[in-house]
Order: sequence, then structure tokens, then C-alpha cells
Amino acid sequence: IGSGGLVVVSNRQPYSHTYDGDDIAVEVQAGGLTAGLDPVMQSVGGTWVAWGDGDADREVVDEDDCVPAPPEDPGYTLRRVWLDDEEVDDYYYGFSNQVLWPICHSALTNVTEWERYWEQYQSVNERFVDAVEAHTDPGDIVWFQDYHFALSPAIARERVADDTVLMQFWHIPWPAWDTFRGCPHGEAILEGLLGNDLLVFHVPRYRENFLHCVETALDEAEVDHEAGTVTYDGYETQVTEFPMGVQVDEIAQRAATDEAEEFWADFTEKYNVADTVAVGVDRLDYSKGIPERLRALEQFWERNPEWRGQLTYVEKGSETRSQIPAYQAIQQRIEDAVERVNDRFGTDDWTPVLSFEEYISKEALASLYRHSDLALISPIRDGMNLVAQEYVAAQIDEDGVLILSDQAGAGRMLDAALMVKPQNTGAFTDAIEEALSMRDAEKRARMQRLREQVAENDLATWTGLNLRAAMALRDGEGSVR
Ligand code: UDP
Repeated sequence: IGSGGLVVVSNRQPYSHTYDGDDIAVEVQAGGLTAGLDPVMQSVGGTWVAWGDGDADREVVDEDDCVPAPPEDPGYTLRRVWLDDEEVDDYYYGFSNQVLWPICHSALTNVTEWERYWEQYQSVNERFVDAVEAHTDPGDIVWFQDYHFALSPAIARERVADDTVLMQFWHIPWPAWDTFRGCPHGEAILEGLLGNDLLVFHVPRYRENFLHCVETALDEAEVDHEAGTVTYDGYETQVTEFPMGVQVDEIAQRAATDEAEEFWADFTEKYNVADTVAVGVDRLDYSKGIPERLRALEQFWERNPEWRGQLTYVEKGSETRSQIPAYQAIQQRIEDAVERVNDRFGTDDWTPVLSFEEYISKEALASLYRHSDLALISPIRDGMNLVAQEYVAAQIDEDGVLILSDQAGAGRMLDAALMVKPQNTGAFTDAIEEALSMRDAEKRARMQRLREQVAENDLATWTGLNLRAAMALRDGEGSVR
């Protein structure tokens, strides 16, 4: 990245160290972001600042809390920030996940705020800036990831050199003003983000929503919608959008491995899966529209008795944020809905909804995507939804159908999907019927178009767009839009 270095800041770290008996094992973080940025960091070098959440993380760091990464073939420095239990409760489970997450997903009834959430969010944002400051030289690019660090950019702005570029990618939606105005400490959140030189969202609607919120909440801010700039407190922030992608080639390769084939053979035999398979892959979050999907499936089997015994829906869920009451509630609702559908239609040799939460390898996941005739991706609100793109990337036989909620950012990229509104149960059920009766030629044509779309917008493209925009700003090239 030209003359300067790169400093990435994220809540989760790319590698953690954990005790395995008396030994220390290295775990690689599974998420798309860490998997995608790790190769970039390996090639350009620099520092990655993240929460050290592994139980053996402290054992391996030097006196500056740093450890070389990746451990087996170091290419950059991982700087760990330590959080105590209160900080995790109040900054992470508190303000991040009970205020900003629900606000940005327009789930106002799930917002809970306590003073201590806000206090810890402020202090943790500051502590991450302490770490950034220690590793940043003039001309570097500092890249904050996501909603855990809304305040850090403005704090960092006061402490780093003028020619340091501060940028942030906001991975979740940005809501309309009428929703954001319900956000506790909303003005401070906006001011924090305006410490960035560059603020990036997935799609134009989130950028527009953000600019409108700034314009409405901050009297002094000057907003140029056309140029995508905000001038506030004598400082200019450029606001734009680059849709995040997935590692398309790697996913396609994984789908074709022996391990993938073995998984599928074992899986279908073990669970007596029907000939036709629909799949959903989600963290069990209230934004993912899982009860809505199960309702559509229930209505589908009700309307189409000939499909009983012929279609299995596989829900690969993973438990998430379970100490938050709204997550306990949604996880219970999902469990109840699965039980209801299975009780109603299941037979001795057929389980309509196969729900499982065990970890499966990336190869197994790619195999599940490849062999599923149908993907049901139905978030009520979702910044992007990478699962939709992963399904398409793994469709190397080009014979599956993607049903996608029009409330996901991914809908803008994947326009050959069958689009649904998840809460419109009738239309959702129609879409399942349409997918299952679609002619092969149409399936193929749609899937080919989707595959072109994910290939054009893969993860490397996204990283390149972000970093090139930051370099253009640093090198004084003006507007990034
Ligand atoms: N994922 C997974 N196992 C699961 C559920 C999700 O590996 O049981 C992965 C999935 O492959 C994808 C990511 O988690 O890479 C989810 O990203 P997405 O943008 O769809 O949703 P998020 O969870 O970030 O809201």
C-alpha cells in the first residue's frame, strides 16, 4: 500500500491461543472478515489490533502485548487488547449488541441501555486507540472494522499525525433517521464516526441514511449528498459504499474436494435426507428471519402434500450472543417452530426440518451449499449477508435456486435470485413452489448470472477498493466516489 503501513482494528482477532491440556494451540477465527483480511495483512505487513479473547493469549505475547501472526509463518504483528469481564459484558454484549446492533437492524424493541454500557463502550474505544497510537506512523492507513468502534476514529484523530488516513467499514445496515433518532447517545456516535477520513457502507441506501442522520442530528454539519462528503468541526469525511464479497474461488474449490463429497455421503445417510434439499445457514439472530422461513415452509407442506417426504430443510444454525435475553427468546422461538413443523408433518422415516448446531468444516459447508437444491435466505434486515454469496460460489453444478430476502444488502448484487419479503408468508411460499418447479434452463441461467455477480465482487475486489480509496485520499487525489 505504497509509502505507509496498514493498521487494522477489529473486535475479533484472526488467531487466538488456547490451552489444550498443558499445550497451547492456535485457533484460526472462522469469520469471513478475518479470513479475508489475513492474506492482505500477510502480504503488506503491519499491525492488527484486536481483543485477545483466548485463554492462553497472554502466555505468548511480548512486553507490548504483541505476537507475530500467522504464528507458523509470520507476516505481520497481532496486538492484543485485554478486556475484563465487565468490559466484555458492557462494551460488547451491552452497548455494541444491545444498542447499536438492534438500532442498525431497526429492531427498536430489542434496544436495552444502561449507563455502564455507554461508559464501558467509551473507555474500550479509547483503549483500542491507545493500541493504535502505539503502532501508527505518519502516512499509515488505520482501518477500523464495524460497529464496535464508532467512537475510536474521533479519538484517534486527535492523537495521530495529520497524514494518517483513518477509515472504517460499517458491516451492518445504517437505518433511516426515524429509527436512528431512537439511539441513546446517537449524536456522539455520529461525531465519533466523523473522525474518519473515509467511512464505507455496503450499499448506497445505508450511505444515504447516514448522511441524512448527520444532516438532521448535527446542526453544524455540512453535507454534500452528491459528492458524499460531510464537513464537521473543520474536518471532511468522505462517505461511500463498496459491497463486501466472499472468497469465491476458494469456496468453489472446497465444494469439489474429496472431504466435501465424503461429508455429503455421510450426512445424507445418517439423517435420511430426502432427494430434494433446501438449506439455511445462520447465526441464530433475530435479524435472520428464521421463524418467518419456517412459517413459509410449514405453509408449503400444507399446500403441497405431495412434497411431504420429498423435501428436507436443513438449518445449519450457530448459537450466538446467548447471554442476551432477546437472543434467548429467538432461539427458543426457533426451537419451538422446528418442533411444531416436525410434529405436524414428520413421519418415521422423514424429518422435515433438520436443525443442527455442530461445527462443520469449511469443506463440509461448501458441500452442503453445493448439494442443496434451494437456499432460503430470509433476513428481516441484514447489512450484506455473506451466506447468500457463499451459496452461489459453491454452486459449481449451477443447478440450485437462491431465494433471497429483499431486506439484505446482498439483494442489490444478486438480482437473479427469487426475491421475497420474509414476512409475506404467502409470497414466500409461492417462491418456494416456483423454485421447486423451475425448469432446468432457467435455473442454470439464473445461477450463471449470480455466479458472475459474486465473482465480480469477490473479497479481494472489496479489499482492493477500500485500500485504493484510502491511498487516493492519503495521496491527495480528492474524491473517492
Ligand atoms: N457461518 C458458519 N457456520 C454457521 C453459521 C454461519 O460458518 O453455522 C458463517 C457463514 O459461512 C458466513 C458467516 O458465518 O461466512 C455469516 O456471515 P453473514 O454475513 O451471512 O451474517 P452475519 O453472521 O455476519 O450476520
